Amino acid sequence: MPFNENPIKIIATLGPASDSKSVLRKLIDAGVDVFRLNFSHGTHEEKGELVEKIRETDNYVGILADIQGPKIRVGKFKDDQAYILNVGQTVKIFENELEDGGDDTQFAIPLPGFLKSMKKDDYFYVNDGIIKIKVKSRERDHLVGEIIAGGLISNNKGVNIPSGDLEQKVPTEKDIKDLEFIADLNPEYVAISFVSSGDDVLTVKKLLENYGNNEIKLIAKIERPIALDNFDQILEVSDGIMIARGDLGVEISPDQVPIVQKQLIYKCNKEGKPVIVATQMLESMTNTPVPTRAEANDIFNAVIDGTDAVMLSAETAVGKYPINSVEYMNKIASTASQNAPLRHPDDYDSDRLTHTQTLGHAIHSLAKEMEELNFRGKILVITRRGYGARMISKFRPPLPIIAMTPFKRTARELHLIRGVQPIHIENIDFFQIDAESLIEESVKYGVETGNLDENEHVIILLVSRKFQRRGNLVGLYYVGEILSPEESKA
Ligand code: PEP
Repeated sequence: MPFNENPIKIIATLGPASDSKSVLRKLIDAGVDVFRLNFSHGTHEEKGELVEKIRETDNYVGILADIQGPKIRVGKFKDDQAYILNVGQTVKIFENELEDGGDDTQFAIPLPGFLKSMKKDDYFYVNDGIIKIKVKSRERDHLVGEIIAGGLISNNKGVNIPSGDLEQKVPTEKDIKDLEFIADLNPEYVAISFVSSGDDVLTVKKLLENYGNNEIKLIAKIERPIALDNFDQILEVSDGIMIARGDLGVEISPDQVPIVQKQLIYKCNKEGKPVIVATQMLESMTNTPVPTRAEANDIFNAVIDGTDAVMLSAETAVGKYPINSVEYMNKIASTASQNAPLRHPDDYDSDRLTHTQTLGHAIHSLAKEMEELNFRGKILVITRRGYGARMISKFRPPLPIIAMTPFKRTARELHLIRGVQPIHIENIDFFQIDAESLIEESVKYGVETGNLDENEHVIILLVSRKFQRRGNLVGLYYVGEILSPEESKA
């Protein structure tokens, strides 16, 4: 894979619009770094086949499995039709599924305890917050609700109940079954929906371990107000964060979403943990081939806020223009990253400084100096598990970062880290050769794969190998000199 100019990572959700090998290929060529499998839809068999297709298409793209969590949904509607609910009308909402299905006068939210949890004047929302319903009264077996904001309703549309005190346990029974399957499927990441505390994340971690997998990295989806209250403990035990604005933007007031986005991104960046901004980034492109100006601004601003990755949902899963969507996202994110102000690294030191992080900070300064002196160059981090790459990336140095790793898994995981171009280096014994030979081999491989060229400088970080003394090594080299030292001496 040649050097990717766009440092911002793109996640594309797969679905009927994108699950063929030819579309997968085009999506990767257009800039996708990670594919998201949404476990709210489809069967295990379908997901297994999809993973095979992905791996056959590209062996290094990352895979993120997103488990559904306690998503509340409306029941079925007559003849699977969609109905319009108009502002001002009333509807009856039952807790038990209706035998003939719902319509525009009544429907079900088949969730035990739903009725009891609601009282007069509470609100709830259907279909990503489009329909807003106010409870007028609670009867024996149903609620009477008034439509405050209208729209289309149909089978299984999502429901949000910010005011209800319903217990929403994570993971659900379905999630647990999915996790057993996912442990075997072995994607790089699992995204956990509707997390409310650090314990939810730890429970999922334990389950995966019990199912025999302790490698999968966990991304907590932030989509409930309680997750904002408990954000610090969630971040501490998670490997990354997704700002799931679809549900979050319904559960909290939409005017709060931008500031929450900025705050969460900053906290993730400080810890050097990947953060994803998700949902409605190019929503209009589900049906039209070009984005709105507001959508272009949204992606641009998420990049300026400091996100590692931006995500597409319906756009690539069921949309008419999956490839165009990725192309636009790539272009907008790339332009934004070229215009992002340079970070002051002092603002991004975490409270728990490690040697590697301190070197990441210093590498930012070195890269800035090189840029000012007009030295062409890149940063090369030689890493086993990717920690060194994250500790450099979090300071957003002004040079591209190449991460050379002996592990295929690390290379795939690093596809989620901003500015990092992962390379899997095979056929060298990473653990036996001395530091100097490792640097030489890595630089040569970087040149062979088109990621480094001989007329540039390279800042190298070699992380915590088993030297005589454990430690990290930083150096500044000229690539041509490493390739042919004798020639350059002459
Ligand atoms: C979201 O709510 O923004 C989200 C990403 O979750 P899902 O698409 O699973 O509803």
